[in-house]
Amino acid sequence: MTRFSMGLQTGSELLFDNVRKAMSIEQGEPERLRLPDAGTVVRKAQVGIVGAGPAGLMLSHLLHRDGIDSVIVEVRSRKYIEERNRAGMLEQGTVDLMIETGIGERLKRQGLVHHGIELRFKGRGHRIDLSGLTDGKTVTIYPQHEVVKDLVAARAAASGEIVFEAEDVIVHGYDGSAPVIRFRKHGEVQELACDFIAGCDGFHGICRQSFPAGVLTLYDRIYPFGWLGILAKAPPSSPELIYANHERGFALQSMRSPEISRLYLQCAPNEDINNWSDDRIWNELEARFATHDGWRLNQGPIIDRGITEMHSFVAEPMQFGRLFLAGDAAHIVPPTGAKGLNLAIADVRVLARGLSEFYRSGSQEWLDRYTEVCLRRVWKVQHFSWWMTSMLHRFEAHNAFDFRRQLAELEYVTSSRAPSQSLAENYVGLPME
Ligand SMILES: Cc1cc2nc3c(=O)[nH]c(=O)nc-3n(C[C@H](O)[C@H](O)[C@H](O)COP(=O)(O)OP(=O)(O)OC[C@H]3O[C@@H](n4cnc5c(N)ncnc54)[C@H](O)[C@@H]3O)c2cc1C
Repeated sequence: MTRFSMGLQTGSELLFDNVRKAMSIEQGEPERLRLPDAGTVVRKAQVGIVGAGPAGLMLSHLLHRDGIDSVIVEVRSRKYIEERNRAGMLEQGTVDLMIETGIGERLKRQGLVHHGIELRFKGRGHRIDLSGLTDGKTVTIYPQHEVVKDLVAARAAASGEIVFEAEDVIVHGYDGSAPVIRFRKHGEVQELACDFIAGCDGFHGICRQSFPAGVLTLYDRIYPFGWLGILAKAPPSSPELIYANHERGFALQSMRSPEISRLYLQCAPNEDINNWSDDRIWNELEARFATHDGWRLNQGPIIDRGITEMHSFVAEPMQFGRLFLAGDAAHIVPPTGAKGLNLAIADVRVLARGLSEFYRSGSQEWLDRYTEVCLRRVWKVQHFSWWMTSMLHRFEAHNAFDFRRQLAELEYVTSSRAPSQSLAENYVGLPME
């Protein structure tokens, strides 16, 4: 564990001067402190972050660049988060941010820049020229766990602390001005006293669940299918991603590197992965990607496999008191639009800006607008991800009419500039506000 520069304290005065100042501006008088239990190790940071996924790590990195210290509390080990296979496609804005903030060296060397994608239906491929339709913008294939590695390395280089393998993490005090993250580490109870808490702990985390009853409105849609995903030691069969709509269901050809293919198949939501032998997976992929011109799918040993649920979800508001939700903790999208990681990064850009403004000037204006600013983008991305999912998958209740309607939509999207441009603009990432 890297050491936090401000050291440890046991149960004493914890609030920072800048918060005192801001509080006296806001409220006219200082708050009373809750004293920790005897024996509890207490430390402090301006911002306490729950979760070392892309959202939490990027937030900590951006705050550090603005001179704001933060500590991240994560339940998993460093090895686990650095090897967790998830997203792989970065929008132009995410790539730009990594490069501008000094963590883009490996990305520039190893990332695979893509200028287009293919929509495949009725046995034919139709290219969407992402760059041609968006003034030269691109997307980059660079696995999420590589982004995580770059961010962890940047935090370590800056002596930023990440507490890995924390247990029994809870948050409290965020409805007043003395937020605390409490956890156990090596059997010892620790409290991180902070000015703000960022809940970046993913969809199953504790921060959203800590909101008082009645505060949150939840919106969700669960799709009647899942994705069976594999990583295979086989060069990608096509240099660009292929999204295939087939009578047997959706399939996606993506990649992790020039040697590793990432392939997905639409399957039943409660599918048992053990029902899928390697042969069955390859046969199904072959059938769904088949073209009239004899396109071949490269095959190789399957090195990882899993089933992903398809779910759209938004929690509103994304803030309560001094607790802010970011990334999957607040919203998730089906992976069809490749947006989850990018949306998480977009949230923490807004949050980092609000916090920087607060520490610079004492103004809470940006923080107060956090939910409103984030949700504008979140709902547009929800719409795009839902639209791509609806256009490309077979739904349980679909009949022949629905399938033909989908094909007509795909023909329109791939043959007319207006809908292809709309797809391209959303795919490379909407501009940041
Ligand atoms: C198969 C798949 C494919 C995907 N493909 C794409 C894609 O191509 N493009 C894209 O943009 N997105 C994609 N996504 C979505 C993307 O992976 C997520 O949106 C992204 O991980 C969100 O980042 P996050 O930091 O908000 O949450 P997470 O990555 O979930 O990080 C949350 C962190 O919090 C930790 N945590 C949880 N509970 C606690 C607790 N109580 N205390 C402390 N820590 C806790 C977790 O261990 C984790 O490290 C995909 C997802 C899946 C599953």
